Amino acid sequence: MKDLDYIFYKVIMTNSPKFIFITGGVMSGLGKGIVASSIAKLLQLCQLKVSCIKMDPYLNYDAGTMNPLTHGEVFVTDDGGECDMDIGNYERFLDISLKSTHNLTAGRIFSNVMRLEREGKYLGQCVQIIPHITDEIKKQLRKITKEENLDVLVVECGGTVGDIESLPFLEALRQIELEDGYSNTFFVHVTLAPVLDAVGEQKTKPTQHSVQELRRIGIQPDLLAVRCKTPLTRETIRKISLFASIPTDCVMSSHDVPSIYSVPDVLYKQGITDVILKNLNLKVNPNILKWNKIAKTFQETNGILKIAIVGKYVDLKDSYVSVSQALLHSGAKFGKEIIIDWIDSEKFENSSKNIASAAESSNLSNKLSQFAGILVPGGFGSRGSQGIINACNYARVNNVPFLGICFGFQLAIVEFARNVCGIYSANSTEIEPNTDNPVIIYMPEQKHVKDMGGTMRLGLHNIDVKGNSIAMDIYRKKLIQKRHRHRYEVNQAYRRAIEEKGLKFTGSSDGGKRIEILEIPDHPFYIGIQYHGEFHSRPGLPEPAFERFVKASIQNG
Ligand code: GLN
Repeated sequence: MKDLDYIFYKVIMTNSPKFIFITGGVMSGLGKGIVASSIAKLLQLCQLKVSCIKMDPYLNYDAGTMNPLTHGEVFVTDDGGECDMDIGNYERFLDISLKSTHNLTAGRIFSNVMRLEREGKYLGQCVQIIPHITDEIKKQLRKITKEENLDVLVVECGGTVGDIESLPFLEALRQIELEDGYSNTFFVHVTLAPVLDAVGEQKTKPTQHSVQELRRIGIQPDLLAVRCKTPLTRETIRKISLFASIPTDCVMSSHDVPSIYSVPDVLYKQGITDVILKNLNLKVNPNILKWNKIAKTFQETNGILKIAIVGKYVDLKDSYVSVSQALLHSGAKFGKEIIIDWIDSEKFENSSKNIASAAESSNLSNKLSQFAGILVPGGFGSRGSQGIINACNYARVNNVPFLGICFGFQLAIVEFARNVCGIYSANSTEIEPNTDNPVIIYMPEQKHVKDMGGTMRLGLHNIDVKGNSIAMDIYRKKLIQKRHRHRYEVNQAYRRAIEEKGLKFTGSSDGGKRIEILEIPDHPFYIGIQYHGEFHSRPGLPEPAFERFVKASIQNG
């Protein structure tokens, strides 16, 4: 760009929103989301209005139709979006609620463009990746900064530089830099410095190559956040700086730390805030003390608390990242380090419908007796469901604190109906469609649903909490709002039979039509929730049901 043009851009763009773009190199899973969240947090601590966006280059319209075992948790927003799990990181770090539009997938972009093409909005033109797809990406990003009146939008681009799929997204970001000017855009590239040999030398070549790849498509990063096991050495920084053509004070170490909530401080101490503010021409100062006070609670724990999570998607910890974070938030509040053991419920399956066989039952007891609390998270389908029911049974009979979420809530009811009410064939129609005793049924509203994507009962719904209950004691409010993601619900025809035997339903929605909370009053802590409390849990502000579950587990442990 000519000098004059540049000055022109600078003048007219000084008051426009600033963009920080986060790209990733070398490989996936480097924790770009945590770097993005941490940078956003530091800017938020400068009293700026900040938000985050995750751009995902895959063609799914949203994350709802993807397997949690390969892609991680589906994070549900207030407005019912089924989003990438990074949206959860942004919400937890920034303590804000994001709209589903903050997860911009290639599927969404392409379908918008195809719709416009059919409407004739591009009549006479050949519709192409550049400019039509890239224009649509830019339009969506700018729309959000405007609608939400943002000072800064942190945009994380999913995937790894070099992928074919992410090219249109990176091209759109390059164009924004050109159009909005250098003082309104800032590129952060997250890479890796692996250590292979016993000497412990940090290797810089992968970072060098990935910066070259980025440059090849016209993007020169302003700052590198380099993931590594231990802090980057001076020599590594010097080498990367030289080869990537980035000043040494813009090569930052993003080394392993015990808690993700310490990452803002790790970056802050290396001067990241000053570098970004200077580049973006912003004259503000962060106050990091308040945040660090919260972050410290995750490190200054005394003692551990062992919790079992019994579920179906336990092979990938990211499948239940909000659940584990909600537990960590609660543990930190009570000064405890939470150790989660992920237990595959299929291991406790058996052929009998009602109770585990003797061998399985002792296997289950041996395993579960090591924990102070048992949590059963959400899930779908019949595989592993009997193992979950057995775990619910174990917690109930042995007075172990229990929290069941969504599928866990539903199967706790199946267990109670079978083993306390004597309704031996009780089941969920999700597991056994023709069961004689459907205590959990497909919601009537779902009967006409044909499409799988975005059609569950999703997002925020009001819940009435019954007085004189444990639920009321937990929430201290008659009305709460929680996020949902389900197709099945409690069959009210069994309500009386179940309540007569001592399990109480103490939360409901849609004017009493839907049951949302269960509790067993004469148990140390046995609570089930149809909603996903975990999505609202924040560091320093744990979700109340999780907090009470952890408190009860501490008392038990
Ligand atoms: N499979 C159950 C349902 O659809 C539970 C869903 C969940 O746990 N998120 O109702």
